[in-house]
Amino acid sequence: MEANISLSLKNFTQLENFGHSLRAPSYCFRLTCVEEVDKIFRLARENGLTVTVRGAGRSYNDASLNGGGIVLDMSAMNQILEWDPATGVVRCEPGVTIEKLWHQVEPDGWWPPVVSGTMKTTLGGCLSTNVHGKNNFKMGPIGEHVVEFTALLPTGEEITCTPKKNADLFYSMISGLGMLGVFTSITLQMKHVESGLLEVHAWPVHDLHEHLFLLLDKAPNYDYVVGWLDTMNGGKSLGRGQIHAANYLHGNEDPNPQKTMQLNSQILPPRIFGVFPKSNLYLFMRPFVNNLGWWGVNTAKYVASLRKHTFRQSHAAFHFLLDYVPNWELSAGRGGLIQYQSFLPKETAEYAWREMLTMSLRRGIPSYLGVTKRHRPDKFLLTHAVDGFSLAMDFKVTNKNRSTLSKMLQDFDRVVLNAGGRFYFAKNSETSAEAARTFLGTETITKFKELKKRCDPNHLLESDLYRRVFG
Ligand SMILES: Cc1cc2nc3c(=O)[nH]c(=O)nc-3n(C[C@H](O)[C@H](O)[C@H](O)COP(=O)(O)OP(=O)(O)OC[C@H]3O[C@@H](n4cnc5c(N)ncnc54)[C@H](O)[C@@H]3O)c2cc1C
Repeated sequence: MEANISLSLKNFTQLENFGHSLRAPSYCFRLTCVEEVDKIFRLARENGLTVTVRGAGRSYNDASLNGGGIVLDMSAMNQILEWDPATGVVRCEPGVTIEKLWHQVEPDGWWPPVVSGTMKTTLGGCLSTNVHGKNNFKMGPIGEHVVEFTALLPTGEEITCTPKKNADLFYSMISGLGMLGVFTSITLQMKHVESGLLEVHAWPVHDLHEHLFLLLDKAPNYDYVVGWLDTMNGGKSLGRGQIHAANYLHGNEDPNPQKTMQLNSQILPPRIFGVFPKSNLYLFMRPFVNNLGWWGVNTAKYVASLRKHTFRQSHAAFHFLLDYVPNWELSAGRGGLIQYQSFLPKETAEYAWREMLTMSLRRGIPSYLGVTKRHRPDKFLLTHAVDGFSLAMDFKVTNKNRSTLSKMLQDFDRVVLNAGGRFYFAKNSETSAEAARTFLGTETITKFKELKKRCDPNHLLESDLYRRVFG
């Protein structure tokens, strides 16, 4: 059905970030075809408004918010246009989710080479932020697996980009935060798999030094590596947690691959213990989402993880742990939550994170989540990756802690920048223009702005994030 393209109150709505900590009233249009994108550009021009593209709205920050402007919701442009099970090449509309993609390809023996920690994201959103998975050290970001994309620029020009054709736009629109044009189709190469299962090894780690050593040490021998870090305990235990490293199964390691690659062996169950509906589980988490409750949860998790063990897990269960509890982010309560993910070179990570974790415990604003990953650099323009590690931390926002939390995250930024680190534009809500200039460098920002001038001379594409960081 064609969208009603007018600036009527019917199209005016309040949008939020994934963590429900930010709100932006905007005109929102759910588009069904490329022609409508062009109509929206015209409407914006005629009314002096700006436009932000939105996929599934799963960014933790203001990447797909545009207060007072127009938001183009691409989630209805979600058709898989071509799928070739012989080569593993798939062409999709930009609103196809990672979920729809793996449902299509896994029964044929393929898996998306890079996935985010939730399967609800769209391919357009994933390219714009250039998402990384638990295999970033090996497979790079999703952009490295894009064969080709087409996009509509605000000038009205339709372009096709590959790593060789329009290469400057290929490497800048991927990672470009939807600020240069709108992806209209995306062609990706899938990864061939011989089983629907992964073999997962779990090791306890007792402090930050051991934590980072194990991530570094295990990565070369595994397809995926990820760590859980207990952010609630300091002192000698600071940085303790658990490392998971996983490998694909090959040859006859899986006795029944045809079965394990079927969707019913992969899909996460809708009920816990077959009885309790998962959709309400977040309500039971709420009483624990405070400093004391979460300290208890982390301590119990750490004790339970002290045993070194090996097990087999479906791809979906390994990658999309957070999707087990729908709406888990609502457990943070009214103020919502924000995520802070820093990327640090392997030489400086331990010192910087020791300082940040200690600071958060001292100030009484601990993070309720700590996830670590191993990374390598890539050649996309607004890259967030380094030869090192990342640590993602979730903070509950309340009226009481809002300003002290914001101040602490600015202090974190200084630590990260002094240590030669980077930030990720899909996550952090505090990164300032000055911080971005420091880690991206003036040359990169100048290049990005020149490309913006070429693709979007009238600055039609703007988001709250763009104004915060590049405005
Ligand atoms: C639970 C959870 C786990 C996550 N885990 C990871 C992870 O492991 N690794 C990781 O890298 N990220 C992760 N993320 C972040 C997430 O993958 C990114 O924020 C991703 O961009 C969200 O996709 P989306 O479709 O929701 O896009 P949105 O949030 O709606 O938009 C993101 C950006 O893409 C742009 N955009 C969207 N569609 C288009 C289009 N068609 N053309 C041009 N621009 C477009 C928007 O303007 C915006 O700048 C996670 C997020 C959540 C909520």
